Amino acid sequence: MPVFYENDPSLQSYWRSIVLYGKNVASYKFALAKSLIDLKGQPNDLIKLEDLAAPFSKHLCEHLKHNDKQATSSSSSFLNTCRKFNSNEASMDELIQTTKRLGFNNVIDAFHIVNGGEIPKRFFIDERRENDGIRITENFFELNELQESENLPREVEARWRLVETAWDLNIPTNLIKVKYDNEREIFYTDKSNRRIDVTPSKDALNGYQKGKCFFCFDYISVLSNSPNLGHVDHFFPHTLKDKPFDGYVDGVWNLVLACRSCNNGANGKFAKLPTDNLLARLYKRNEFFCSSHHPLNETVRNQIGVSPNDRLSKLKHYSKQALEILTHTWEPQEIRGEEVF
Ligand SMILES: [Zn+2]
Repeated sequence: MPVFYENDPSLQSYWRSIVLYGKNVASYKFALAKSLIDLKGQPNDLIKLEDLAAPFSKHLCEHLKHNDKQATSSSSSFLNTCRKFNSNEASMDELIQTTKRLGFNNVIDAFHIVNGGEIPKRFFIDERRENDGIRITENFFELNELQESENLPREVEARWRLVETAWDLNIPTNLIKVKYDNEREIFYTDKSNRRIDVTPSKDALNGYQKGKCFFCFDYISVLSNSPNLGHVDHFFPHTLKDKPFDGYVDGVWNLVLACRSCNNGANGKFAKLPTDNLLARLYKRNEFFCSSHHPLNETVRNQIGVSPNDRLSKLKHYSKQALEILTHTWEPQEIRGEEVF
């Protein structure tokens, strides 16, 4: 199983490993990640639990409104207080006090644990005993100075939506399917024949390719008003849809984010087949999905195979087939960003 930050020990890679790869039993990690981002402008590096409790419980209350399943266990006094707050049966003060007492019990300890081990960089230090709070580290301040930190809140939100949807579906994980709406660029799923919009596909895809154009590594943004806005691109071109091609073209496994130049610039990809070099990158990116637990893991496994070997031979088969149809291969002429895969 590839480690996301293995060849790229950058702060944003460590942060993304927490958000995208933790095996969650509750959504508290996402709420804490969002709260830290909310509080990033604070002059103090010590955040008292009392101050953390406000944004933390606010995010959970908001999510509970559209998805009641926020943990795998069936009962939680903390979540019950959040529910009561939503239905005006608990006051703000009650909510803050309960959050302070119960909300952080596991999440502060677990935040930096990914796949059973602690990551080498910490974004805060636990000072609950000494100072009744957590102390933000230099790593977190540095992370937020990077241009791509503008994308992080939406990546957390996208991951949160995917995870809670998977819990809510209440079906065997091997049946979970994230589908893609090409027109609206949104991930959705079906529950009892009802369509549920999960999250904008850009927000969900961006983190798994480390915030860079999949093809040329140029910086991309998921904010719609940004000049660097990324585009959802079909690695195996969309045109293969009505050709004798075995791959499910609209599958998550085939979707990447590309910069404008690679997507539709003068020397852009269009209906050409990315080279073997880029195919190897797609394989690696898909292995990141498969390490991310439900529901992207199950979706990719359903679409292109349950083992890494299955997935590799599937991609090779598709590539051979696509070349016969498309004839031309493509790779961007210049690599603009630093290589990240
Ligand atoms: Zn590009």
